[in-house]
Amino acid sequence: KGKQIYKTLNNLKITLLCGFVTILVLRGTIGLGSIGVPSSNPDDIMTDTQNNGANGLDVTQEEEEEDLDSDIDPNATYTLGPKILDWNEQRRAFLLENPDLERSTNGKPRILLVTGSPPKPCENPAGDHYLLKSIKNKIDYCRVHDIEIFYNLAHLDAEMAGYWSKLPLLRKLMLAHPEVEWIWWVDSDAMFTDMVFELPLEKYKNHNFILHGWEKEVYEKRTWVGLNTGSLLLRNCQWSLDMLDAWAPMGPKGTIREEAGKILTEALEGRPAFEADDQSALIYLLITQRDLWGDKVYLENSYYLHGYWVALVEKYEENMEKSHPGYGDERWPFVTHFVGCKPCGSYGDYSVERCLKQMERSFNFGDNQVLQMYGFEHRTLGSFKVKRTRNDTNRPIDIEDSLNLLHPKFGQAIMNSL
Ligand code: UDP
Ligand code: MN
Repeated sequence: KGKQIYKTLNNLKITLLCGFVTILVLRGTIGLGSIGVPSSNPDDIMTDTQNNGANGLDVTQEEEEEDLDSDIDPNATYTLGPKILDWNEQRRAFLLENPDLERSTNGKPRILLVTGSPPKPCENPAGDHYLLKSIKNKIDYCRVHDIEIFYNLAHLDAEMAGYWSKLPLLRKLMLAHPEVEWIWWVDSDAMFTDMVFELPLEKYKNHNFILHGWEKEVYEKRTWVGLNTGSLLLRNCQWSLDMLDAWAPMGPKGTIREEAGKILTEALEGRPAFEADDQSALIYLLITQRDLWGDKVYLENSYYLHGYWVALVEKYEENMEKSHPGYGDERWPFVTHFVGCKPCGSYGDYSVERCLKQMERSFNFGDNQVLQMYGFEHRTLGSFKVKRTRNDTNRPIDIEDSLNLLHPKFGQAIMNSL
């Protein structure tokens, strides 16, 4: 009997040992972190792959959270950076020392187009795809018009996340690039739909800040959509640094932004209740301190520096039938901006399907002007497929460049040739 018990115990020992070894082996192959259950949270997946990968770009969730609430001192007043009082003099001195940097190769003052998107992947992968189409669209416009481009993916200032992130970024770029005369912010959800149109900079020689908008809507009606901050031009000068300082105080996220939102909703016509946004804060600044800032702000509406997509996208076919690129206005809109779409995030004002469909059409509408240089066009505005518009020849240089986009330097008067 005793022998029997001894044998059974021995068997049990071996079974336990085998089980233990199996667990050890499984632990080694599957990994301990999630005990083998794949995460359904895209953030986790990103963190995992980044940590396992050798790309050196690890951002753990801990790091991220730490980063978000670092250095927030509720008693300190927020500033964008050290006060600068003599930027015009500093910039002039730099340009005197580096005179060849003042103009771009087309002989015009330098313009730097700035855009960007959140540092994390979009919640919907299709959002990332449209960010790619959107930056391709901007690269095309900038190449043709000799404009430099900067794409930002970093939150330079944890307190100014989201739509406020353009403020610290614009300031940084102005200071780092004294050779640049104009900084042109363009939202990631805005597309160039007229590749021929050029900014009428001559018209702005007495102004420092150009936005799409209407004086009456801002100063009289005080509506929160009286101007749009999705596409704006800022001159690199002392005035602009001062204006950014005056614009920023409602930005810091948390209590300040929440409370400021209430003031803005109270003051502006038609504004829903939500935290302070950069656009409302700017309108509020202009209304309350018009004497300080108003004379240098140009509210443009003779062409679509920004164009609200809902009013434009259904007319593209009509534009193609009746007109041609180069006008930038209702005949052929310069910029189509998908305000309220949020293809990368959640909570948009419009359905994701409607937004993505129209963004595709808008991209293709602009892209047709790029493709025509190479003898192609999209089959329809809704299709990424292309077709040939001419046969290849053995005299490629003789091909007529009907929009004059291939070598615009040789014919500044693009419009005259159309
Ligand atoms: N943006 C950014 N980083 C962020 C969030 C937003 O650079 O983390 C930029 C992005 O270019 C976006 C713009 O801020 O287009 C403004 O936001 P959005 O276009 O969603 O606002 P809307 O135009 O709909 O008011
Ligand atoms: Mn936008």
